[in-house]
Amino acid sequence: MNDIDIAQAASLQPIRHIAEKLGMPESALQPFGHHKAKVDLTYLKTLEHKPDGKLILVTGITPTPAGEGKTTTTVGLTDALNRLGHNASACLREPSLGPCFGMKGGAAGGGYAQVVPMEDINLHFTGDFHAISTAHNLLSALIDNHIHWGNELEFDQRRIVWRRVMDMNDRALRQITCGLGGPNNGFPRQDGFDITVASEVMAIFCLARDLKDLEQRLGNIVVGYRRDETPITAKELKAPGPMSVLLKEALAPNLVQTLEHNPAFVHGGPFANIAHGCNSVIATRAALKLSDYVITEAGFGADLGAEKFIDIKCRSAGLNPDVAIIVATVRALKMHGGVNKEALDTKNIDAVRSGCDNLIRHIENMKQFDVPVLVAVNRFSTDSDAELELIRDIAKFHGVSAEICSHWSDGGAGTEALAQQVVDLTQTEQPLCQPLYNNNLSLWDKVHTLATRLYRADDITADQKTRDHLKMLEGAGYGHLPVCIAKTQYSFSTDPSLKGAPSGHVVPIREVHLSAGAGFVVVVCGDIMTMPGLPREPAANRIRLNEQGNIEGLF
Ligand code: ADP
Ligand code: MG
Repeated sequence: MNDIDIAQAASLQPIRHIAEKLGMPESALQPFGHHKAKVDLTYLKTLEHKPDGKLILVTGITPTPAGEGKTTTTVGLTDALNRLGHNASACLREPSLGPCFGMKGGAAGGGYAQVVPMEDINLHFTGDFHAISTAHNLLSALIDNHIHWGNELEFDQRRIVWRRVMDMNDRALRQITCGLGGPNNGFPRQDGFDITVASEVMAIFCLARDLKDLEQRLGNIVVGYRRDETPITAKELKAPGPMSVLLKEALAPNLVQTLEHNPAFVHGGPFANIAHGCNSVIATRAALKLSDYVITEAGFGADLGAEKFIDIKCRSAGLNPDVAIIVATVRALKMHGGVNKEALDTKNIDAVRSGCDNLIRHIENMKQFDVPVLVAVNRFSTDSDAELELIRDIAKFHGVSAEICSHWSDGGAGTEALAQQVVDLTQTEQPLCQPLYNNNLSLWDKVHTLATRLYRADDITADQKTRDHLKMLEGAGYGHLPVCIAKTQYSFSTDPSLKGAPSGHVVPIREVHLSAGAGFVVVVCGDIMTMPGLPREPAANRIRLNEQGNIEGLF
């Protein structure tokens, strides 16, 4: 059975039953049908005095393009903890529509570790992405309208940095010319579209603590510059008010369930490259108030996802992960051991052993944050026991417990050993997790710290234009912000073909972007796509409604 067959065969509980498990009154729910609900923000305010549960971060080794199973492990571990009698919920990102019709498919877990209703979650869900796209595009419209009516703020039309967004992979919209057709249609200028998950509004939405913080951050967005290079903000365009109105309903977190009827908050979904790649702070905080264990995922491998989770999200929201779980697969470790894609299913102990350099590097890196680490080996049917045991032994040799997890085929029952490790590890008081760098460092030194300490590069480089840009941002008062590195997720280096645990490389900074509302400076190291395209054979070709009106081909 594939993912959608399993999801469609599942019997779902009414969402109020899931809320009951969390001790929530029905009045706290804003239901969307029978199986989805938003949780009322005013109700969540009343929980502020309650102590937080334990926060468990699920991260991963350097992945293969298929993904190594962080989402499935997040769901499987949530189910396993509940099976052991604990009150646990999952916190996940909302999937983007574009990739569903492209190559990667959906993002609601897989096998017997999924969140449901899977089709809804992967498609329009509760309309949050619509709200985010609309709020973003309102600001775009206000910019061109402002210029049309006289440009009082003195926008330099060549220096407008706020683009437009839509939630679809559409390469034809990456670069466009807008305002064509004469004086009634505004002034022609170059523009372009990003996918909604790349919108700074998405990042802001996911970092905001409440509506007030949301409005404040929206106001801080820098949309463009004057001829003298002074920034113009969304606040100067009076945009934060109406944008907040559009986002108000969406900001309440969404509650759904796992296949085993345990609570899952699925809310917000920023890119993991030009943004920080994890679900909303509001959902995480809500889950922490309502559960003893909250299991959450950060996108990409630990060098990017876990780093941003700690240095950006946790630092900004005052959160502290109690455990970090590194998901590893035999397949990906073989790839890091030099095996090519076609041979990943063939037993190869030597390749797994040498590929474990990648896992060890991630373990060492996580220890630099002072966060206790566990390894979850996500079992595939093609794995041999000898390969799985080897990973466990190597992790143990490096002082970390590893458990073999089969939630994908067995549901929560397959991941109880890992759940027990989590419980044991969180019994004793641990020191607080530490960000990797102090925000007082210069922007350059922040990037240098990440590159040398996490990616094990020798140095970082940038051309004069980029160095000047960094200086300009510091001069304009943005030097205290953390950095958000956008680089390939397929290598510690900026070269996706360098597998394993490369060192001695150089990290070139190609360009930098200010996300003043989200509160970070994006540092682009390599080719990063903010509007993906569809592949030659897009998944869309297989997606259809069958005779009964049910969805087929979504995965
Ligand atoms: P990530 O969150 O790390 O990107 P996912 O959990 O979304 O990875 O999994 C990526 C894909 O791999 C999904 O389609 C999922 O069904 C599949 N997958 C994950 N674990 C397994 C497994 N153990 N066996 C087979 N397929 C798996
Ligand atoms: Mg995922």
